[in-house]
Amino acid sequence: MPRDPRFDILFEPVTIGPVTAPNRFHQVPHATGMGYRRPQTLAAMRGVKAEGGWGTVCTGYCSIHPSSDDEPFPTDSLWDDNDVSALAMMVDQVHEHGSLAGVELWHGGAGSQNSYSREPHIGPSSVPAGVYAPVQTKIMDKRDIREFKKWHREAAIRAKRAGFDIIYVYAAHWFLILQFLEPSNQRNDEYGGSLENRTRLLKELIIETKEAVGDTCAVAVRFKASMGGFGQDQDTAEPREVLELLGELPDLWDITARDYRYEMGTSRFVPEAALEETMSWVKSVTTKPVVSIGRFTSPETMLRLVRQGVVDLVGAARPSIADPFLPRKIAEGREDEIRECIGCNICYTGDQLGFPIGCTQNPTMGEEWRKGWHPERIPAKGSDSSVLIVGGGPAGLEAATALGKRGYSVTLAEARRELGGRVTLEEELPGLREWNRVRDWRLTLISKMENVDYFLESVVDREQILEFAADRVVIATGAKWRRDGIGRQHDKQIPGWQTPSVMTPDDVLGGRVADGPVVVYDDDHYYMGGVIAEKLRGEGLEVTLVTPANEVSTWTNNTAEQPIIQERILTAGIRLKTGTELSEIQSGGVLAECVYTGRTQEIPASTVVLVTSRVPQDDLFHSLRDDIDIERIGDCLAPGTIATAVYSGHRYAREMDEDVPDGLPFLRER
Ligand code: ADP
Ligand code: SF4
Repeated sequence: MPRDPRFDILFEPVTIGPVTAPNRFHQVPHATGMGYRRPQTLAAMRGVKAEGGWGTVCTGYCSIHPSSDDEPFPTDSLWDDNDVSALAMMVDQVHEHGSLAGVELWHGGAGSQNSYSREPHIGPSSVPAGVYAPVQTKIMDKRDIREFKKWHREAAIRAKRAGFDIIYVYAAHWFLILQFLEPSNQRNDEYGGSLENRTRLLKELIIETKEAVGDTCAVAVRFKASMGGFGQDQDTAEPREVLELLGELPDLWDITARDYRYEMGTSRFVPEAALEETMSWVKSVTTKPVVSIGRFTSPETMLRLVRQGVVDLVGAARPSIADPFLPRKIAEGREDEIRECIGCNICYTGDQLGFPIGCTQNPTMGEEWRKGWHPERIPAKGSDSSVLIVGGGPAGLEAATALGKRGYSVTLAEARRELGGRVTLEEELPGLREWNRVRDWRLTLISKMENVDYFLESVVDREQILEFAADRVVIATGAKWRRDGIGRQHDKQIPGWQTPSVMTPDDVLGGRVADGPVVVYDDDHYYMGGVIAEKLRGEGLEVTLVTPANEVSTWTNNTAEQPIIQERILTAGIRLKTGTELSEIQSGGVLAECVYTGRTQEIPASTVVLVTSRVPQDDLFHSLRDDIDIERIGDCLAPGTIATAVYSGHRYAREMDEDVPDGLPFLRER
C-alpha cells in the first residue's frame, strides 16, 4: 500500500549540526541489559531497528570511566580503546541501513554502583551513593572536575572513532551532570550556588565535546523539561532558564522527564504523549532541533506533535522495542500492522535485574543474534502439516500468527466468545485496558490470513481433537488461580481454604460479587493483588491487603511501578498489612501472622481473595500425550507473564520442522 501523504512530513530529513537524520524517527537511548558484555547481541538488535526505518538509533547509557560502573547492570562502555571495536559493530549495522548512530555518554556520579570497579563515587557534594549502599560520594575538587572533563572528551573521541554520528552529553535523570545542575548541589565555588554556576559544567562539556568531535559529529544534550517527579508539581521555571542560557549551544535537545516512573510510566498510570504538557515550551527557547518521547504508537499523535511544532523528531524507546519496523509500516501504508507497545515495562525488567531485554509484544526482541529471530521475517513452513491450536490466549494467538506467517494451515479453537484469554478478562481491571493490544494486533494479522481459521465458543475435548485429526496439536489452555493458598509462602493448603467466602482472581474476573469487608492476600507479588484490591475498593468495599512481602506488589519495582502502586493503595484507603501471612481462614475473618515474630491478629472478612499461584490447565494435554503429536505452550506449560506466554507460542511456531540444536538453545557471547 502506498504511504498516506499526510505522513510525508514524518519522513523528511532533519539536519542535526553536521549530520542529517534521514527521517524524524529517533530511537532515543535506552538500556538493554546487553551492554559491553554482549556486543554482538546488541549490534544485531540495534541494526534491526535501523532496518525497520528508525532514522536515528542510539545506544543505552554508555559509561565513560570505571568511576561510573553499574554492575550488575551491564552498561555500554567507552572506557578504553578496546571498547571502540565492540561499539563499532553496532554503528556498522545501523549505518548499513542509512540511519544515524548516537551514543549516550554516561557518568552516574552518586547514581552508579561502583561495586565492580571499587572506585569511589564522585559528585559535586558528599551525598549517599548507590542503591541504599552505605557509602557516600567523594567531593570533586577542581582537579577532579578537570579529570572528569578529560574522560568525557576522550570517550567522545573514541565514540567518533567507533563511527557514531551523534554524541550525547547526558544531563538528565539523577546522574552526575544533573547532580551539578540541581539545587541540591551544595558547592560554594564557581560550580555551585547560582544557576549560572550550576550549569557551568554542562556548558563546558558541550563546548569541549564540540571542539573535540563537532566537525563531523552532532552534539546532543539530554535534559529534563520540569523539576517534579511522578505525580508532583511539574515546575518548568528552572529548566527553562537553563535552556535560555544554553539553548543554542548543542545541535540537538533530547527532552525527557525527571524520573523514570513518569518518563517511561506504564499504561496503567501514564497515557501516551504524557510529557507534552511539560515540554511543549522547549522549542520556543531554542532554534535547535528537539526530540522528546511519550510511548508514541499512534502515527496521528506523531503527526500532530510535529505539525504543531512541539518536536522535530519523534523519540521512542518502547515503541521501537515492541515494533522495530514501526516507521517502515507507516511508510508502506500498513499502520494497522504496527505492533503497539502495551506499556507494561517488561522490557525494563532486564535492565533492572541485569539480563538482556525482552518484550511482551515482540518475542524476537533480544533474540536477533543469539537465535537469529527477526521481528518481521520468519522461515517458510518446513512441511505441509496442519496444526490445531486449542486456546486463544496470548500463547495460542501468537502461535497462530507466527505459524500462519510461515504458511502452515492453522485452526484455532477457543472456548470463550472472544479471543485473548487472560488479556480479554484482565482488560476490565483498573489500568490494564491497553494490554488488550496483545490480542488485537494478532487478531488483525490472522484475520488477513487465509490459512488461519479460528472458532469461538468451541470447547474442545479429547475426542474432538482425535476426530479433527490435525497433524500437530498444541494445547494453549492457560492456567487457573489456585483456591487453596499454596504459593511462595505456603507449601501446604491454608487451613480453612474451603470456606465459602474464599475467592480467586478468576472468580473476580468472572464477575462473582465480593462482600465487604474483603481481605486480599497477595503472595504473587506482581500486579494482580494490588489491582484487585484497587478494583474492590473502587466498588466501595472495605479492603485490607495482606502480603508476606515488605511492600505491595514488590516485583513491580522491576517495572518502575511499585512506589506508584503503594501510593495508590494507601491513598485509596486500603489497609495494608505487610510482612504478614494468612495462617487460617475462618468464617467471618482470617487469622494473620507476622512473618518475623509469629504474632497473630484477627482481621474481619466476608470475602477472602487468594492471589497466590496458578495451576496449569493441562489435563487435555496429558490425556493425549501418548497418542498423538502434541505439545503445550504458554501458561499451560508453565504459568508466567503474558510475555512468557507470547514467547512460548512464538518459539513453538519458529521451531516447527526446524533443526533445533540438542544442546544449548542459543548462541552465547564470550
Ligand atoms: P496463555 O497466557 O498461556 O495464552 P490464557 O489463560 O490467557 O493462557 O488463555 C488460555 C485460553 O484457552 C483461554 O481463552 C481459554 O478460554 C482457552 N481454553 C481453555 N481450555 C480450552 C478448551 N478445552 N478448548 C478451547 N479453548 C480452551
Ligand atoms: Fe512495550 Fe511492554 Fe514491550 Fe516494553 S515490554 S516495549 S512496555 S510492550
